[in-house]
Amino acid sequence: MRFSRAFIRTVKETPKDAVLISHKYLLRGGFISAQSAGIYDFMPLGKRVLDKIRAVVKEELDRAGCEEVSLGFVTPADFWRESGRFFKYGKELLRFKDRKEGEFVLGPTHEEAMVNLVRGRVSSYKQLPLNLYQINLKFRDEARPRFGLMRGREFLMKDGYSFHDSREDMLREFRLMEETYKRIFRRIGIDFKVVEADSGAIGGSGSKEFMALADAGEDTILCCEKCEYGANVEAAKRVKPDYQPFEANFAGEIDTPNITAIGDLAAFLKVPEYKTIKAVAKKALFDDGEKIAIFYIRGCDDLEETKALNAIGANELTDASADELARLGIAAGFIGLNLKIEGVLIVVDSELENESGMITGANRQDKHIVVSVESGAHTFADLIAVKSGDRCPVCGAALKSRSGIEIGHIFQLGERYSKPLNAVFLDENGKTKPFVMGTYGIGVSRLIAAAIEANGDEKGCVWNKAIAPYLVDIIVSSAKDEAQTALGERLYSRLIHDGIDTILDDRAVGFGVKMNDFELIGFPYAVIAGRLAAEGKAEIVERKSGERLTLEIDRVIDWIKENG
Ligand code: ATP
Ligand code: MG
Repeated sequence: MRFSRAFIRTVKETPKDAVLISHKYLLRGGFISAQSAGIYDFMPLGKRVLDKIRAVVKEELDRAGCEEVSLGFVTPADFWRESGRFFKYGKELLRFKDRKEGEFVLGPTHEEAMVNLVRGRVSSYKQLPLNLYQINLKFRDEARPRFGLMRGREFLMKDGYSFHDSREDMLREFRLMEETYKRIFRRIGIDFKVVEADSGAIGGSGSKEFMALADAGEDTILCCEKCEYGANVEAAKRVKPDYQPFEANFAGEIDTPNITAIGDLAAFLKVPEYKTIKAVAKKALFDDGEKIAIFYIRGCDDLEETKALNAIGANELTDASADELARLGIAAGFIGLNLKIEGVLIVVDSELENESGMITGANRQDKHIVVSVESGAHTFADLIAVKSGDRCPVCGAALKSRSGIEIGHIFQLGERYSKPLNAVFLDENGKTKPFVMGTYGIGVSRLIAAAIEANGDEKGCVWNKAIAPYLVDIIVSSAKDEAQTALGERLYSRLIHDGIDTILDDRAVGFGVKMNDFELIGFPYAVIAGRLAAEGKAEIVERKSGERLTLEIDRVIDWIKENG
């Protein structure tokens, strides 16, 4: 491609709403164009990167024995009713009607549709296993689309689904997909960590996420400093901390006038925060209505909302206001462990089980009491947000909190979809069984942003060779100089002839403009046809390191072929 002919429009100004470098550089470099909130057009440079990522994903999946299909983007609402997710999926699911009043959704994920494709077409264990995937558009009406391609409403995902006759075989495939995903992300050149994860709205049991390690990540992960353990904070576990024994000299009700915050309570009573119990009141949304839920955790801990959500099986949690609590007779700020109000859900953190001498609200204004947390008296669940410095559940060393960008997620689904959708096969004994399934996703368009966050610098994008829009940018220093132009053309035709993705910057603009574009767009190499053109020499610049090397023209071609 010749730069002078290409639809590449770079701009100097940083777009107003862009805070992340990936968002800024993708817009400034002319990779994408914002169409409306969370919806982007891919311009030629962006499309090239997208296609290269797609090709790496496809190559590795096909190598692992998966087969590519392409399902309808518009999916009948009936599939979603069959699986029980039509309402549960919440507002991210875009529902609409066609002219005949038929109900449809824009697919945010395709478990239902893929099960529908396979059911009735695979009837025997002899036809299993099967792993089908697609690389297609998804639509999720995200509450806060932001950060460019990182969290779009319309985005490109690779979604794969596997079908098995046993749990063991599904686990084998799950491990194969974990290895395959690692190969993919290594080839794309992103530093990542595989972590234990929550399964969210997709459902199923075990799941793992692939997290690109970057400060801009929206996810918090905890990684062990010694062993391999890593987990999303939504699923992270810890060894219960050792708390110093502490005997408080209180019994019965204690006067605590206007003291509602844990820090104030601990200071006022001169007790450590870990001897207090914090009650977090939430409004929980279910398929059939709302309820108030109260979660009890140690005063020094924080509630992990996803764990809380899972503990009661709700669809969503929002904050409960003091007014909403007062209407039920609950004294905000003084909520205690022994609250018993019809319809209010109570869950206590597992680490509190059997603790004694704990200070909790008295369920009366301006009063607290000392209690023991008896086993059997409450519903217990893990509710804690694990923090940096907590101890690893595998080896006991310190955990460290980091930011990650979720680039992939693999799930052990089991029969979550095959059962309700009645997708069955005959096993070896002629018995009818639902398929045992796995599902595997990669955020293909998000990977573009993640690659920039992981590898970009203060000047612009830095692409790995596998996904760069072009490998080599030949820069003709002055388009007016005949020797430089001739050298640029010669290098260009030779590199193209050798099958190397090359762009020739033959524009009639200054050298500085061309270098800035090279750095902003982030081609791995520039070959400069400049002052030394008359001597048959050109200069190679490596974008990542900034290193420069002057070579004879023939050596330039060889060097690119060896190093590119
Ligand atoms: P997140 O927690 O970031 O919202 P998710 O858990 O809802 O993601 P999955 O259902 O696991 O996402 O989807 C598979 C992959 O699709 C994710 O790992 C992520 O890389 C990508 N993805 C999900 N939502 C978006 C989005 N709004 N924009 C771009 N990519 C996305
Ligand atoms: Mg996920």
